[in-house]
Amino acid sequence: MRVTILASGSSGNAVLLQAAETSILIDIGLTAKRINGHLNTHGIEANSLAGVLLTHEHGDHTRGLRVFCANSSVPVFTNPLTADSLKRSGVAANWNLFASGAEFQIGDLRVHPFSVPHDAADPVGFVFRHAESSFAVLTDLGYATKQVVNCVQGVNALLIETNHDEAMLQNDTKRPWPVKQRILSRHGHLSNAAAAEIVANVATPQLRYVLLGHMSEDCNSSALATQSVRSRLDVDGHTQVEILCASGEGGCATASITI
Ligand SMILES: [Zn+2]
Repeated sequence: MRVTILASGSSGNAVLLQAAETSILIDIGLTAKRINGHLNTHGIEANSLAGVLLTHEHGDHTRGLRVFCANSSVPVFTNPLTADSLKRSGVAANWNLFASGAEFQIGDLRVHPFSVPHDAADPVGFVFRHAESSFAVLTDLGYATKQVVNCVQGVNALLIETNHDEAMLQNDTKRPWPVKQRILSRHGHLSNAAAAEIVANVATPQLRYVLLGHMSEDCNSSALATQSVRSRLDVDGHTQVEILCASGEGGCATASITI
Protein backbone atom coordinates (compact mmCIF):
# COMPACT_ATOMS: atom_id res chain seq x y z
CA MET A 1 0.00 0.00 0.00
CA ARG A 2 1.30 3.43 -0.86
CA VAL A 3 0.01 6.50 1.00
CA THR A 4 0.70 9.97 -0.38
CA ILE A 5 -0.51 13.01 1.49
CA LEU A 6 -1.35 15.59 -1.20
CA ALA A 7 -2.45 18.21 1.31
CA SER A 8 -3.24 18.38 5.00
CA GLY A 9 -4.47 21.39 6.95
CA SER A 10 -7.32 23.87 7.16
CA SER A 11 -6.53 25.09 3.63
CA GLY A 12 -7.10 21.62 2.15
CA ASN A 13 -6.99 17.89 2.78
CA ALA A 14 -6.47 15.06 0.29
CA VAL A 15 -4.72 11.69 0.44
CA LEU A 16 -3.88 9.39 -2.46
CA LEU A 17 -3.98 5.70 -1.51
CA GLN A 18 -2.73 3.02 -3.91
CA ALA A 19 -2.96 -0.74 -3.39
CA ALA A 20 -2.22 -3.19 -6.21
CA GLU A 21 -4.52 -2.11 -9.09
CA THR A 22 -6.66 0.23 -6.98
CA SER A 23 -6.14 3.97 -6.49
CA ILE A 24 -8.46 6.14 -4.43
CA LEU A 25 -8.57 9.64 -3.01
CA ILE A 26 -9.53 10.23 0.60
CA ASP A 27 -11.08 13.71 0.70
CA ILE A 28 -10.74 16.27 -2.06
CA GLY A 29 -10.14 19.56 -0.27
CA LEU A 30 -8.04 21.16 -3.01
CA THR A 31 -9.40 22.67 -6.23
CA ALA A 32 -10.08 20.09 -8.96
CA LYS A 33 -7.28 21.71 -10.98
CA ARG A 34 -4.75 21.13 -8.22
CA ILE A 35 -6.01 17.60 -7.60
CA ASN A 36 -5.63 16.79 -11.31
CA GLY A 37 -2.14 18.28 -11.25
CA HIS A 38 -1.18 16.00 -8.33
CA LEU A 39 -2.69 12.95 -10.06
CA ASN A 40 -0.75 13.76 -13.25
CA THR A 41 2.46 13.98 -11.24
CA HIS A 42 1.79 10.45 -9.96
CA GLY A 43 0.91 9.18 -13.44
CA ILE A 44 -2.75 8.63 -12.58
CA GLU A 45 -5.62 9.42 -14.92
CA ALA A 46 -8.47 10.97 -12.85
CA ASN A 47 -11.05 8.68 -14.47
CA SER A 48 -9.06 5.59 -13.48
CA LEU A 49 -9.58 6.27 -9.76
CA ALA A 50 -11.73 3.60 -8.11
CA GLY A 51 -13.33 6.22 -5.91
CA VAL A 52 -13.21 9.42 -3.91
CA LEU A 53 -14.00 8.76 -0.24
CA LEU A 54 -15.17 11.55 2.02
CA THR A 55 -14.66 11.83 5.78
CA HIS A 56 -17.17 14.71 6.08
CA GLU A 57 -18.57 17.67 4.16
CA HIS A 58 -16.45 20.57 5.48
CA GLY A 59 -14.98 22.72 2.70
CA ASP A 60 -11.36 21.93 3.54
CA HIS A 61 -12.18 18.27 2.72
CA THR A 62 -14.52 18.74 -0.28
CA ARG A 63 -13.45 21.97 -2.04
CA GLY A 64 -12.68 20.30 -5.38
CA LEU A 65 -15.61 17.87 -5.41
CA ARG A 66 -18.18 19.77 -7.49
CA VAL A 67 -15.85 20.59 -10.38
CA PHE A 68 -14.09 17.21 -10.22
CA CYS A 69 -17.44 15.37 -10.46
CA ALA A 70 -18.67 17.61 -13.27
CA ASN A 71 -15.81 16.23 -15.37
CA SER A 72 -15.72 12.59 -14.29
CA SER A 73 -17.99 9.76 -13.22
CA VAL A 74 -15.60 8.46 -10.54
CA PRO A 75 -17.79 7.10 -7.72
CA VAL A 76 -17.96 9.19 -4.56
CA PHE A 77 -18.22 7.05 -1.42
CA THR A 78 -19.83 8.71 1.57
CA ASN A 79 -22.60 8.15 4.08
CA PRO A 80 -26.15 9.42 3.40
CA LEU A 81 -26.08 12.45 5.73
CA THR A 82 -22.79 13.73 4.30
CA ALA A 83 -24.11 13.21 0.76
CA ASP A 84 -27.35 15.08 1.63
CA SER A 85 -25.40 18.00 2.98
CA LEU A 86 -23.27 18.19 -0.19
CA LYS A 87 -26.31 17.81 -2.46
CA ARG A 88 -27.88 20.79 -0.68
CA SER A 89 -24.83 22.85 -1.59
CA GLY A 90 -25.21 21.90 -5.26
CA VAL A 91 -22.84 18.95 -5.71
CA ALA A 92 -23.95 16.35 -8.28
CA ALA A 93 -21.93 13.13 -8.15
CA ASN A 94 -21.97 9.40 -8.83
CA TRP A 95 -22.87 8.74 -5.17
CA ASN A 96 -22.04 5.37 -3.59
CA LEU A 97 -23.49 5.38 -0.10
CA PHE A 98 -22.07 3.43 2.82
CA ALA A 99 -23.24 3.13 6.42
CA SER A 100 -20.83 4.31 9.12
CA GLY A 101 -19.54 1.17 10.84
CA ALA A 102 -20.21 -1.18 7.90
CA GLU A 103 -17.15 -2.48 6.01
CA PHE A 104 -17.08 -2.60 2.23
CA GLN A 105 -14.69 -3.40 -0.62
CA ILE A 106 -13.33 -1.07 -3.32
CA GLY A 107 -11.20 -3.08 -5.75
CA ASP A 108 -8.18 -4.32 -3.81
CA LEU A 109 -9.01 -2.34 -0.67
CA ARG A 110 -11.13 -3.34 2.32
CA VAL A 111 -12.61 -0.17 3.84
CA HIS A 112 -13.91 0.26 7.38
CA PRO A 113 -15.58 3.64 8.02
CA PHE A 114 -16.27 4.49 11.67
CA SER A 115 -17.97 7.46 13.35
CA VAL A 116 -15.92 10.23 14.95
CA PRO A 117 -17.10 13.15 17.10
CA HIS A 118 -16.78 16.36 15.03
CA ASP A 119 -19.16 19.22 14.17
CA ALA A 120 -20.32 17.85 10.79
CA ALA A 121 -23.40 15.89 9.56
CA ASP A 122 -22.01 12.36 10.05
CA PRO A 123 -18.19 12.48 10.13
CA VAL A 124 -16.08 9.32 9.83
CA GLY A 125 -12.54 8.04 10.04
CA PHE A 126 -11.34 5.10 7.93
CA VAL A 127 -9.22 1.98 8.24
CA PHE A 128 -8.00 0.56 4.92
CA ARG A 129 -6.65 -2.97 4.55
CA HIS A 130 -4.86 -4.68 1.69
CA ALA A 131 -3.06 -8.02 2.06
CA GLU A 132 -1.18 -7.73 5.38
CA SER A 133 -1.08 -3.91 5.41
CA SER A 134 -3.38 -1.45 7.11
CA PHE A 135 -3.66 2.34 7.22
CA ALA A 136 -6.01 4.55 9.25
CA VAL A 137 -7.18 8.12 8.68
CA LEU A 138 -8.09 9.99 11.84
CA THR A 139 -8.43 13.72 11.21
CA ASP A 140 -11.11 16.14 12.38
CA LEU A 141 -12.29 14.80 15.71
CA GLY A 142 -12.72 16.38 19.12
CA TYR A 143 -11.70 13.28 21.03
CA ALA A 144 -11.35 9.54 20.48
CA THR A 145 -14.23 7.38 21.65
CA LYS A 146 -13.56 3.82 22.80
CA GLN A 147 -14.93 2.67 19.44
CA VAL A 148 -12.40 4.82 17.56
CA VAL A 149 -9.52 3.35 19.57
CA ASN A 150 -10.82 -0.20 18.97
CA CYS A 151 -11.10 0.37 15.21
CA VAL A 152 -7.65 1.89 14.79
CA GLN A 153 -5.63 -0.29 17.19
CA GLY A 154 -3.09 -2.52 15.47
CA VAL A 155 -2.74 -0.63 12.16
CA ASN A 156 0.65 -0.32 10.42
CA ALA A 157 0.30 3.38 9.65
CA LEU A 158 -1.87 6.20 10.92
CA LEU A 159 -2.62 9.71 9.68
CA ILE A 160 -3.77 11.67 12.74
CA GLU A 161 -4.38 15.35 13.25
CA THR A 162 -2.13 17.25 15.60
CA ASN A 163 -4.15 20.41 15.15
CA HIS A 164 -2.82 22.78 17.78
CA ASP A 165 -0.60 23.28 20.75
CA GLU A 166 -3.12 24.03 23.48
CA ALA A 167 -1.10 26.87 25.06
CA MET A 168 -0.45 28.52 21.67
CA LEU A 169 -4.17 28.36 20.89
CA GLN A 170 -5.18 29.77 24.30
CA ASN A 171 -2.71 32.66 23.86
CA ASP A 172 -3.61 33.34 20.22
CA THR A 173 -4.90 36.89 19.75
CA LYS A 174 -6.31 36.48 16.21
CA ARG A 175 -9.05 33.95 16.97
CA PRO A 176 -12.18 35.15 18.79
CA TRP A 177 -13.16 33.18 21.86
CA PRO A 178 -16.08 31.28 20.21
CA VAL A 179 -13.72 29.96 17.53
CA LYS A 180 -11.21 28.81 20.15
CA GLN A 181 -14.03 27.19 22.08
CA ARG A 182 -15.18 25.30 18.96
CA ILE A 183 -11.67 24.02 18.22
CA LEU A 184 -11.11 22.92 21.83
CA SER A 185 -14.56 21.30 22.22
CA ARG A 186 -15.38 17.59 22.08
CA HIS A 187 -16.58 18.16 18.50
CA GLY A 188 -13.58 20.20 17.42
CA HIS A 189 -9.96 19.24 16.79
CA LEU A 190 -7.20 17.32 18.57
CA SER A 191 -4.36 19.09 20.37
CA ASN A 192 -0.83 17.68 20.14
CA ALA A 193 -1.18 16.17 23.62
CA ALA A 194 -4.59 14.62 22.84
CA ALA A 195 -3.27 13.14 19.58
CA ALA A 196 -0.19 11.77 21.38
CA GLU A 197 -2.43 10.02 23.91
CA ILE A 198 -4.53 8.44 21.14
CA VAL A 199 -1.43 7.28 19.25
CA ALA A 200 -0.17 5.67 22.47
CA ASN A 201 -3.55 3.95 22.95
CA VAL A 202 -3.67 2.47 19.45
CA ALA A 203 0.06 1.65 19.10
CA THR A 204 1.17 -1.99 18.88
CA PRO A 205 4.53 -3.42 17.71
CA GLN A 206 2.90 -3.43 14.21
CA LEU A 207 2.71 0.39 14.10
CA ARG A 208 5.43 1.64 11.73
CA TYR A 209 4.43 5.16 10.70
CA VAL A 210 2.53 8.04 12.23
CA LEU A 211 1.76 10.92 9.87
CA LEU A 212 0.92 14.15 11.66
CA GLY A 213 -1.63 16.25 9.79
CA HIS A 214 -4.20 19.04 9.86
CA MET A 215 -1.73 21.25 11.71
CA SER A 216 -2.67 24.85 12.48
CA GLU A 217 -0.23 27.23 10.80
CA ASP A 218 -0.08 29.75 13.62
CA CYS A 219 -1.04 27.70 16.70
CA ASN A 220 1.38 24.81 16.20
CA SER A 221 4.74 23.78 14.81
CA SER A 222 6.06 20.54 13.34
CA ALA A 223 8.67 20.40 16.07
CA LEU A 224 6.14 20.72 18.91
CA ALA A 225 3.74 18.18 17.39
CA THR A 226 6.50 15.65 16.65
CA GLN A 227 7.99 16.10 20.12
CA SER A 228 4.61 15.47 21.81
CA VAL A 229 3.96 12.23 19.93
CA ARG A 230 7.58 11.01 20.02
CA SER A 231 7.98 11.46 23.76
CA ARG A 232 4.62 9.78 24.50
CA LEU A 233 5.45 6.77 22.25
CA ASP A 234 8.92 6.42 23.74
CA VAL A 235 7.42 6.13 27.24
CA ASP A 236 5.72 2.92 26.07
CA GLY A 237 8.82 1.66 24.22
CA HIS A 238 7.40 2.16 20.72
CA THR A 239 10.72 3.39 19.39
CA GLN A 240 10.13 1.54 16.08
CA VAL A 241 7.57 4.13 14.99
CA GLU A 242 8.66 6.70 12.42
CA ILE A 243 6.89 10.06 12.75
CA LEU A 244 6.41 12.22 9.66
CA CYS A 245 4.84 15.66 9.36
CA ALA A 246 2.16 15.75 6.69
CA SER A 247 1.39 19.45 6.98
CA GLY A 248 3.40 21.96 5.04
CA GLU A 249 3.17 25.57 3.94
CA GLY A 250 -0.32 26.47 2.78
CA GLY A 251 -1.58 22.97 3.53
CA CYS A 252 0.71 21.55 0.85
CA ALA A 253 2.34 18.32 1.81
CA THR A 254 4.19 15.59 0.03
CA ALA A 255 4.68 13.01 2.78
CA SER A 256 4.65 9.55 1.25
CA ILE A 257 5.03 6.10 2.77
CA THR A 258 4.88 2.51 1.57
CA ILE A 259 3.56 -0.15 3.94
ZN1 LIG B 1 -13.87 19.39 9.68
